[in-house]
Amino acid sequence: MLQLVFATQNAYKLKEIQQQLGSAFELVSMSDINCTTDIEETGETFAQNAQLKTNYLNTTYGLNCFGDDSGLCVETLNNAPGVHSARYAGEHKNDDDNMNKLLLALQNCSNRNAYFKTVISLNYYNKNYLFEGEIHGKIITEKRGTNGFGYDPIFVPNGYNKTFAELESTTKNIISHRAIAFKKLIQFLQQV
Ligand code: IMP
Repeated sequence: MLQLVFATQNAYKLKEIQQQLGSAFELVSMSDINCTTDIEETGETFAQNAQLKTNYLNTTYGLNCFGDDSGLCVETLNNAPGVHSARYAGEHKNDDDNMNKLLLALQNCSNRNAYFKTVISLNYYNKNYLFEGEIHGKIITEKRGTNGFGYDPIFVPNGYNKTFAELESTTKNIISHRAIAFKKLIQFLQQV
């Protein structure tokens, strides 16, 4: 079984991807390889941040690995908060504060188009591959729903009238930016 490191501290994410990948690969987390480094996300794009993680793991441990980076891009704000999504309202990384800041920034805006994006970087036998997923929609004017995390209560995907935080997690997990990108990664790994 081929070992692949997933650059995440999140055991739940790891389990979810392992289930989808099947038994051809054994996914291990950073803690499984005794890596406790907090790899700083200093890149200007999602791809750069994802590559920072996989390049670090690859050069330090010489292992095949993948990592992801995601965020929300708002059209009228030149795609902000983008790579700064988690810390849009400050380093304390608070979802409510981030949403409040965004709602305020869009207070008088009629263009409320936005999209979530995920980029996955895979370092596989000394080659780097990128896989992307996006979901487009609108930022509404108030928070609705309690599921999910981050900006979910203020994002309504196109073709739906519920926010990500009102949709069933099973639905979000099929249509989301992350789901699309991971599906591409899994398809790639299943045919290499
Ligand atoms: P990460 O790269 O997956 O950790 O995402 C960075 C930040 O983007 C998160 O802390 C959230 O603020 C935002 N974000 C990413 N994906 C989602 C999502 O599916 N729903 C809501 N917010 C998200």
